Amino acid sequence: MSWNAVTDHAQDFLNAAAHDPSSVLLALDFDGTLAPIVDDPEDSRMHDGAAEALALLGERLGHVAIITGRGVAVVRRLGRLEEREGFGRVVVLGQYGAERWDAATGSETPAQVPENVAAARPAVARAIADCVIDGVVLEDKGRALGVHTRRSADPDAAYMALQPVLMDIAERHQLILEPGRNVLELRASALTKGDSLRALVSETGATVVAMGGDDLGDLPAFEALREMRAAGLTTCAVVSGSAEQPMMAEQADVLAEGPDGVAAWLRDLAAALDR
Ligand SMILES: [Mg+2]
Repeated sequence: MSWNAVTDHAQDFLNAAAHDPSSVLLALDFDGTLAPIVDDPEDSRMHDGAAEALALLGERLGHVAIITGRGVAVVRRLGRLEEREGFGRVVVLGQYGAERWDAATGSETPAQVPENVAAARPAVARAIADCVIDGVVLEDKGRALGVHTRRSADPDAAYMALQPVLMDIAERHQLILEPGRNVLELRASALTKGDSLRALVSETGATVVAMGGDDLGDLPAFEALREMRAAGLTTCAVVSGSAEQPMMAEQADVLAEGPDGVAAWLRDLAAALDR
């Protein structure tokens, strides 16, 4: 077993999903949850086991969504969503919900590039060039600028060195600095995955809601789940555990051993629907 039920809500969710799959919204983060973390963010690929399980779940659950900090186009491409079975109705919310793609209709809502992100870009590029540690990568996400230290000569030192510099830039341009696993992200809106999850739940009318995530950006979604539970919904927080973010485990109803564990949980969810 590569996942564990930490609370009773884990089993309650499986029971409720089996009882009425159409009432379920299954929302999942991409990197670190559906896709193993890799050194180069461009090499990110969906876990085969997760893709197989979602092929079974995609047609049966009420709603399946990917809620990610990445852009929609990137996740569509890296996740190969259009080639896969079971993704015909998936909704992808990119950049924390600033962008959206509906597989069923093909409709795409692009994000606007805020002026302050564009204005901050040269300063961020300069900060990376000036960093004493080589190999830090800038990812331009449109509404956000991701500064990746994972592939640098010393990821932790680069992170520590860049954090105060980027904090200054963020303040100067009225941007938010979002810390993550070897990534510092400057972004314009205060839109969170929690906002996106709440909006999806009210749009779909789902009453049984699970969210899978692995990183700090997923915390607002887990907070939203607790609010929904207090309001009477059946909810389940699935944490893709990692040594890099051990405190995320505190959020878990289901604690999975990284993307392998998430894939196993998805498989067990699909099996629960057959019982
Ligand atoms: Mg993640």
